[in-house]
Amino acid sequence: MAIERTFSIVKPDAVANNAIGGVLNLIEKGGLKIIASKMIHMSKKEAEGFYAVHKARPFFGDLTDFMSEGPCVVSVLEGENAIARYREVLGATNPEEADAGTVRKDFGTNIERNAAHGSDAPDTAAFEIGYFFNALEIKER
Ligand code: ADP
Ligand code: MG
Repeated sequence: MAIERTFSIVKPDAVANNAIGGVLNLIEKGGLKIIASKMIHMSKKEAEGFYAVHKARPFFGDLTDFMSEGPCVVSVLEGENAIARYREVLGATNPEEADAGTVRKDFGTNIERNAAHGSDAPDTAAFEIGYFFNALEIKER
């Protein structure tokens, strides 16, 4: 199986709820290796740039307010099929629909304030890692 990298955000709700450790624990227990990590606080404009693929969605304004309301923990995860694997660890976008034991079931509040982000494909993972991490922080494979 392919070793991949994916990108993770512990969102501002989970940071505010003292769930950084809880989320990172589920990531590590899920077989993913954290190979880079730091705390950041996005401006509204930086959140808009990160979520540019969603700019036509009706929730874009609320989402980018939320993502810039406080600090986040951004990380790069590595492992076999890491992109799909991390989506499984996260659970469904809506915490009410997420399976037991997933990040969003355990730590999410609602469909917007859902505790964590994970990339959905190799091209988005590469864009998202490059948006937050420089060459000192993460080495090319
Ligand atoms: P995912 O994060 O599971 O990939 P999406 O890419 O569809 O989900 O959406 C990005 C983020 O936008 C979600 O994680 C969530 O925070 C927010 N979001 C998604 N759908 C809605 C919605 N219907 N109402 C409010 N916020 C939403
Ligand atoms: Mg998405």
